[in-house]
Amino acid sequence: MIFGIGRRGDVDDDDEDDEDEVELVLFQGALNEKDPNLKENAKLLQAGLVRAKELVSDALSRRAEMIRLEPKGNAAVASFFVDGIPVPGQRMPANAALAVTQVLKLMAGLDIKVRSKPQSGGMNAEYNEVKYLIRVDTQILPAGGERLIVRAQNKAHRLETPDDLGFSDDLKAKIRELTARKKGLILAAGPPMSGVTTTAFAILRGIDGYIYTIYSLTDMTGREVMHIRRFEGNEDDDLPQTIGRAKRAEGDILYVDPLRDADFARLILSECNDVCIVSEMAARDASDAIARLVQLVGDPQLVAANLTAVFSQKLVRLICPSCRQAYRPHPKLLAKVGLPPETKVLYRATEVDPDELEDDEEPCAKCGGVGYVGRTAMIECIEATDGMRSVIESGGDAAAIKAQARKEKMQSLQSDGVRLVATGKTSLEELQRVFQSGK
Ligand SMILES: [Zn+2]
Repeated sequence: MIFGIGRRGDVDDDDEDDEDEVELVLFQGALNEKDPNLKENAKLLQAGLVRAKELVSDALSRRAEMIRLEPKGNAAVASFFVDGIPVPGQRMPANAALAVTQVLKLMAGLDIKVRSKPQSGGMNAEYNEVKYLIRVDTQILPAGGERLIVRAQNKAHRLETPDDLGFSDDLKAKIRELTARKKGLILAAGPPMSGVTTTAFAILRGIDGYIYTIYSLTDMTGREVMHIRRFEGNEDDDLPQTIGRAKRAEGDILYVDPLRDADFARLILSECNDVCIVSEMAARDASDAIARLVQLVGDPQLVAANLTAVFSQKLVRLICPSCRQAYRPHPKLLAKVGLPPETKVLYRATEVDPDELEDDEEPCAKCGGVGYVGRTAMIECIEATDGMRSVIESGGDAAAIKAQARKEKMQSLQSDGVRLVATGKTSLEELQRVFQSGK
């Protein structure tokens, strides 16, 4: 369903006039297809629709990927996040913020009567002829009241494929090699909200779908991925039976729910001796994930025998190619960060405070003076080589696993980050920021 509502005072489909009005985002229907019931909610829409659209449009025009709207005293504050960095947003009277919150909940298919429980939903939207997927979450604040989190994703610029995420050619070849074994567990790991599912999808997309059959045994949450088919088992089957069916249906690679509890993790590890299974796990990074998995299942042998590899990622901002400044790095600096001594040039971002510009000066048109545009991922891959298996079997902790990975020169977040600096994709300053703020 498409409805172009939202011009001032106009709750109608007809919006072909008024060329000179500021372009506002179009809300194009909830993902769960719930009818917003425009007639019954006409009062609410009158109070908050234009403001909600203005807020979302403002965020999208500034390339924000997230809006956070929460009550602060008698008012409310909307903050934007651009490439993960908070930028000061706008203050809003409390009643206006409430109306905006309720309108966005309504448009995202959430229950507007519910104000004391967290909810999640989403909608399709369009702004300046670009299609967006907008996710809306509410969180309940300890003092009462709701915090609204709105995440916008440009459908054309998803960080989803190995290329979007900046996987190196070596890493892409590694994924093809590991999945071709048709056995073993491949994990995507990371802190919550760090893009773990994105990493898992990138791994799945890195597999040659023309050669291998990939089944998803879990909800794909509205993401269509070519070559990955949802495997529908029989309703009465338990998970081992469904996995058995998927294997008999010639599945080569199975994508399953995240590993959260011991029984499930044990089951997955014991099922992957004749099929490759891809899953996710919450952990600090790859070495932490392996140590946690051993602790969870309480059986180092089982993990060592069936784990193939663990991937984790950290996002880093891309330096703006239009206004970056080249400099010649000091040899001491190169040695310190582990760059080859023959490195001739590195780049620094130009960050401009818009308030300090002279009247005739304009900030960089590409990045608006931020110095960075978009993000890419640093990827870490720990592979269960023979050496790594013996570290796991002997009960090695995360530090021992990390040391072994370094010894075997496996790709780490740091080494991948340094590669991005060396190729001018990002700056040392940005790398430092990411690792300092990182958990
Ligand atoms: Zn720029």
